[in-house]
Amino acid sequence: MGYVPTIVRRHHGSHASVPIKYGRVSCYDIGTGGISIYVKDINSINGLNDDEKEQLSKVVERFPFRTTEYYLSLIDWDDPLDPLRMIAVPTLSELDEWGSLDPSGESEYTVSPRVEHKYEQTAVLLLSGSCASLCRYCFRKRLFMQDYVEGPLDIDSAIDYISRRPEVSNVLITGGDPLMLGTRKLEKVLDRVSEIDHVRLIRIGSKIPAVNPYRITEDPDLLELLDNHITPYRSLYMMTQFNHPRELTAVAAESLHLLKKTGALLNNQTPLLHKVNSNPHTLAELMNELSYMGVAPYYVFQCRPTVGNRHFAVPIEESFRICEEAKNMCSGLGKRFKYAMSHRTGKIEVIDMDDENVYMKYHQAALPENLGRTMALKRNPDALWLEDYTDAE
Ligand code: SF4
Repeated sequence: MGYVPTIVRRHHGSHASVPIKYGRVSCYDIGTGGISIYVKDINSINGLNDDEKEQLSKVVERFPFRTTEYYLSLIDWDDPLDPLRMIAVPTLSELDEWGSLDPSGESEYTVSPRVEHKYEQTAVLLLSGSCASLCRYCFRKRLFMQDYVEGPLDIDSAIDYISRRPEVSNVLITGGDPLMLGTRKLEKVLDRVSEIDHVRLIRIGSKIPAVNPYRITEDPDLLELLDNHITPYRSLYMMTQFNHPRELTAVAAESLHLLKKTGALLNNQTPLLHKVNSNPHTLAELMNELSYMGVAPYYVFQCRPTVGNRHFAVPIEESFRICEEAKNMCSGLGKRFKYAMSHRTGKIEVIDMDDENVYMKYHQAALPENLGRTMALKRNPDALWLEDYTDAE
C-alpha cells in the first residue's frame, strides 16, 4: 500500500486530523468544512485585486458568476493560470467574439420547454436552472444569462412525452445541476421517471462532486433516494464532471465512495480545455485517478464553439494527439474514454489521423442513417469544429 498522508481539515466546524484514504492529496484539501457556501460576488474574492475586480465586472454583467467557497479554497491564487481558477473565475477573454449560445443545436431537438429528444433512445430533461459553480466554459451558459427566456420544465408534459415513446429507454436529467434541487424535490422527479416501465436507465449529470461534494457527504437522504431508485432492471448513472486531477480532493473522493455505495454507476465526462487539462500528463492523471476511484472515464469532448469560450478551445488534431498520448499513459480502465465532438448532427468520435486526413465516426446521430457513418476529412491543424473541415480528396 502506498503512502497515506495525514492532513488537517475542518469537518463539522471542528479541526480534526484525518487520514486521507483516497490517493493523491495536496494542501488544497485543506478547504472549508461542512456544506459549502456559495459565492456570487467577485468583489468578495480575496484572491483578486481591485483592478481585476473592476475589469471583471464587465464580464459578469454578461456571463454571471457563481461558485462555492470550497472550490475557491482549491485555487492557487499566486498562479494566474491556475487550472481551477480558469474553470471558475471569469476572465476578460470571455468577451472575445466567437461561437454561438447554442453550439450543439439543442433548440432543434427541444420538444417542449427544457425537454430535448435528439437520439432515439434518450430524452434529456433540463431540470435545474442553476449550478453550484458556473463553469466559465459551459456550453449551456445561455440558461444562466439574464435574457434567457425558455420557460421552466413542465414535469407532467415531460413524463407524458416519454411515456408515449417506448423507444426512450434512457432519461438524462441534467441542467443546470439536478443536485441543486432539494432532495425531496429531486425525489418527486425520480419517482415520476421511475414509473415509466420502458425507462431502463436514468442518468444524472452533475458537477457537484467536484464543486461541492459536501452536498453528497452530508445528506444521507440523498444517498437513500438514489439507492431507492435502483432496481435489478433499472440502473442509475451519475455522470460526473471532473476536469482536472486537483478537483479529486479527499472529500470529493469520499462523495464518490458514498455514491458508489448506493449502487449508482459513475462515469465522467469533461471537455478538453486549453491550459486546464490540455496536457497528456494531466489528462492521463485525471483518467487514472478516476478509474482508481471507481469512476469510468466516458467522454472527452472537443470544446464546443460557445460564446465566450474561444480561449478554452484546442484544435481538433492537437486534442486528438493529446488524448492518444494520454491513453498511452493509462491503464485499460483509464483509457475507456472516447474523444468526441458533440455536434448539432450527433456525437462524432475522432478515431484516427494520418498525414493527409482525419477520420471520424458518428457514435450517436440525430438522423438514424448517419449512425456509424465514418468520414475522411482533409487535415486542417487549425480546425476547431466539424465545419472547419472539407472532405478528403
Ligand atoms: S456544471 Fe455543467 S451546466 Fe453547470 S455550469 Fe458547469 S458545465 Fe454548465
